Amino acid sequence: MHKVAEIIAIGSELLTPQRMDTNSLVVTESLNSLGVEVVTKQVVGDDRARLTDAIRTAVQRSDIVVLIGGLGPTEDDVTRDAAAAALGRKLVLSLEQESILIGKFRLINRQMAPNNLRQAYLVEGAEALPNPHGSAPGQFLSTDRGALAMLPGPPRELKPMVADELTPRLRPVIPPQVIKERTFRITGIGESDLDTLIAPVYTKYTNPTTTVLSSPGDLFVSLRAIAETEGRADGLLREVGNAIASLLGNRIYSEDPKETLDQVVGRLLRKNHATVATAESCTGGLIAARLTERGGSSDFFLAGYVAYTDAQKQEMLGVSGKLIEKHSAVSEPVAAAMAEGARGRSGASYALSSTGYAGPSGGTDHDPIGTVYLGIAGPGETRVLRIRYVPERERVRALSTQAALELLRRTLMKVSLSN
Ligand code: AMP
Ligand code: MG
Repeated sequence: MHKVAEIIAIGSELLTPQRMDTNSLVVTESLNSLGVEVVTKQVVGDDRARLTDAIRTAVQRSDIVVLIGGLGPTEDDVTRDAAAAALGRKLVLSLEQESILIGKFRLINRQMAPNNLRQAYLVEGAEALPNPHGSAPGQFLSTDRGALAMLPGPPRELKPMVADELTPRLRPVIPPQVIKERTFRITGIGESDLDTLIAPVYTKYTNPTTTVLSSPGDLFVSLRAIAETEGRADGLLREVGNAIASLLGNRIYSEDPKETLDQVVGRLLRKNHATVATAESCTGGLIAARLTERGGSSDFFLAGYVAYTDAQKQEMLGVSGKLIEKHSAVSEPVAAAMAEGARGRSGASYALSSTGYAGPSGGTDHDPIGTVYLGIAGPGETRVLRIRYVPERERVRALSTQAALELLRRTLMKVSLSN
């Protein structure tokens, strides 16, 4: 079995809305780099009994246990006491740590208050981890399953201690193991539909673990494998990842976790030596903003028309007044005419259009609030998608912007526009 880790962040302030535990992220990054997964993490207030319980449980079920904070000189700093109690060991005064502490206070010309001496106590059998940026040393000791570390809370003390003291001591405790990840980015499908599609595959495996993360209009499928070697981890990711990828097919817009949809579209436009323009109503310029987010977008982005009123749809884009009168401005023919108008006036290879009811007012029986028509005019043909969103203005605008980019991506990839 692979070695796993558990983190306990200690401090009553971390249980208030004012302060957040950030140190555990630093520790997690270091553990992951050693191939160790963090399987549990918790925040415990400055309470000796609760912390003792938490540590006792942690050392029983996890190989590496890292305690963060509560190593200071005051009465509310209970980590040393709790760790000793949980392990059934004594706290012993380290004469070496005492003289280091006295030295630190002498250096700043201050008398050491007696309670500072608490920081010179080590759990029996623990090695002190030097703290050049503060007074309390860290501690490191062996447990039945592996190791327990105690680190100071102030981030400027913790960070260097993780890098310089903790990581080198953990390395020999951990057998060779590596964590590798593979991520698919998907849009244009809901989270539950996506899961229905791929869960039958990924639930068969515990290694890699698969998680589906969602943010509006954007889904991540992340696989995480742990193995003795990089080659074996890659093999696990290939086996399960390829099975998932074949189910998702062209819905995957990137395998790079950092690559956004607008970047993918920009890359495809450049590759095809194609250009784009936008004709936006309900998205108010958001599609153009996304397409121009990165430097160098002038390679492919020619013009963005924001034609909000019926009059401006005629004036800026040449949409016929009769067409608007007959079908209304939020309609398939008008979305098509807007895209064709932007394409014709700008000379771009493709033009995207949006017209819809973002709300909170507007809408008809046929096209209630949340209905958006997205058009794309290209060298071959003009296509229009009708999408109905939950009628919340911000979501309608953000989701239809993402859907418009996806429409362009699918057109450039020459794949089907619907799922
Ligand atoms: P302590 O070591 O508990 O005396 O904490 C010293 C300082 O570090 C306090 O200001 C804490 O709020 C801060 N601190 C303690 N633990 C954490 C943590 N997990 N993440 C971020 N800051 C922390
Ligand atoms: Mg504290």
